[in-house]
Amino acid sequence: MTWNTLDDMDLAGKIVLTRVDINVPVEDGKVTDTTRIDRIVPTIKDILAAGGTPVMLAHFGRPKGQFVPEMSLRVTLPALEAALGQSVTFIERPDRATLEAATGPVLIENTRFSAMEEANDPKMAGFLASLGDIYCNDAFSAAHRAHASTEGVAKLLPNCAGRLMAEELGALEKALGNPQRPVVAVVGGAKVSTKLDLLGNLIDKVDTIIIGGGMANTFLAAQGVQVGTSLCEHDLGDTARDIMDKAATANCTLILPSDIVVAAEFKAGAANEICDVDACPADKMILDAGPKTVETIHAMFNTAKTVIWNGPLGAFEIEPFDKATVAAARAAAEVTRAGTLISVAGGGDTVAALNHAGVADQFTYISTAGGAFLEWMEGKTLPGVAALMQQPG
Ligand code: AMP
Repeated sequence: MTWNTLDDMDLAGKIVLTRVDINVPVEDGKVTDTTRIDRIVPTIKDILAAGGTPVMLAHFGRPKGQFVPEMSLRVTLPALEAALGQSVTFIERPDRATLEAATGPVLIENTRFSAMEEANDPKMAGFLASLGDIYCNDAFSAAHRAHASTEGVAKLLPNCAGRLMAEELGALEKALGNPQRPVVAVVGGAKVSTKLDLLGNLIDKVDTIIIGGGMANTFLAAQGVQVGTSLCEHDLGDTARDIMDKAATANCTLILPSDIVVAAEFKAGAANEICDVDACPADKMILDAGPKTVETIHAMFNTAKTVIWNGPLGAFEIEPFDKATVAAARAAAEVTRAGTLISVAGGGDTVAALNHAGVADQFTYISTAGGAFLEWMEGKTLPGVAALMQQPG
């Protein structure tokens, strides 16, 4: 199963409805981070170069089906025009004739101003389809939602993936779909409870899972290790043991910290010490993995062919408890630079952590799609992607 790219489509003279994610941060009426806008530029330019008219569909904020003036996509127009180097026509209420008359790129008002968008109402999907000739989805980050502009309309028009979507799907396929082995997953973060599906899926697909962050505490406690006052889901002992059993059956090695950094309080600069994993004092909490653990992780990266990473190894927002996350991220970047590792990471906190380590641009691929990346790591079918796997009719 595969998807069309822009190269598979005859775009000349066509109106190409292009779902993009330009849900950018805005302060005082100005876009403060243009990353998402910059990333859709190749798709829009390629459609124009092929003689098509790109008509951008996008959501902005959570207006819940109402017109909310401060959630108008109009605010993105200057940044969009600067990124594209040309003017963009903004249309609040589109109709086919206006789009046919457009001479350059078009941006349509926030799709979520209609309640029919999130309801994936066939009426809205049909209306959108009547506006264009081809549907192009370049918003992987919105592909986990079955909405009218991400899924409904895709089923009604010849469809394809935009450049960003194709790049993202290609990188994810390399990391989990059809990876070079051995594959090591790094899974960190606060809680096991939010990553159960993810762990369940990874156990069947990867060779090793390195577990870090608060969720490692739950696994340690489940093995009878004292974790003091650490963040720990003590009630998930059975679940954690079940995951360990399943991993053993599937020949997937689970790696937990062998040494830890402990402190009396969750606070930047808190007095801390390194100890073996089984020596956490009763009045202290585990806030990071220790240097021995980082060495183990580095060694694993040296022999792995693929690393897939979601979640920090410690409380990386408060120094010095960012050390293991930063050191491991730099190790992955180093081995990637050396050319022996494919490294893919994603999720909001993970991107922040890799940026903090200064190595986000040295990974093979970083997905900025939070929810969609997680659902993909969980092995779920993303409706927006599934819709690209088939053509209507
Ligand atoms: P998640 O959103 O599940 O990926 O979790 C990320 C959060 O987990 C970050 O805010 C980290 O500060 C937090 N975290 C990681 N390790 C620990 C830990 N040992 N104790 C408390 N919080 C942690």
